[in-house]
Amino acid sequence: MKNTLSRSFSAFVSLFFPKLCPACHSPLSVYEKVICWYCQMSLPQTFHYNDPHNSLWQKMNEFLQVENAVALFDFQKNSRIASLLHALKYRGNQQIGAFLANWLAPPLIESEVFREVDAILPLPLHPTRQKSRGYNQVQLFSERLAHHLEIPVIHDLVFRKKKTRQLAMMKQMDRWKEVEQAFGVNKDRHYAPQHWLLVDDVITTVATISSCGKVILEGCGGRISIVSLASRLS
Ligand SMILES: [Zn+2]
Repeated sequence: MKNTLSRSFSAFVSLFFPKLCPACHSPLSVYEKVICWYCQMSLPQTFHYNDPHNSLWQKMNEFLQVENAVALFDFQKNSRIASLLHALKYRGNQQIGAFLANWLAPPLIESEVFREVDAILPLPLHPTRQKSRGYNQVQLFSERLAHHLEIPVIHDLVFRKKKTRQLAMMKQMDRWKEVEQAFGVNKDRHYAPQHWLLVDDVITTVATISSCGKVILEGCGGRISIVSLASRLS
């Protein structure tokens, strides 16, 4: 009875305040969850997972040896993907991360590109940034992806010790200087070398994720693969 009342109330509220698709801002129908069907059909997927030597993998390997690198979507300014990731990162819509993982984990698994990964490491935020935001935007995505891949998410291995500035507008040399020593590894966590899957939200310059990967390899050994929600290489 309580559930029926609650559903009726939600339906009544949605008449006046319909939920909007966070990508295209169209009202969602009662059958659409999180992202509208039009966007699910037409958002610019990269299909990197069908091409082991895709452009992101090539760019990453200029700076850090990675086994596989996949971005799910192509990121452009003022696009639906930009709106989607803005809602995930700054507007508290964490369900987007879970939705993307549930949607795109099956083709990732099928492609076998991450067949051999052992553990997921969400790219850490600086503690003050995580405190002010209240969450890490790749947390739910990482957890749902880990569930599908049947591997653990590890939170206490790598941490961010420097609050870095936006890199996109910086010159190449300045980017690397900015991310130098941005990450650290907890020496008292004794994880055996593994194939780590590092998760980021948007890769616009590979400096940050390369710096993080380098620290992990130096501190723990093993191998690195990368998955990002989106990429726009500059
Ligand atoms: Zn939409």
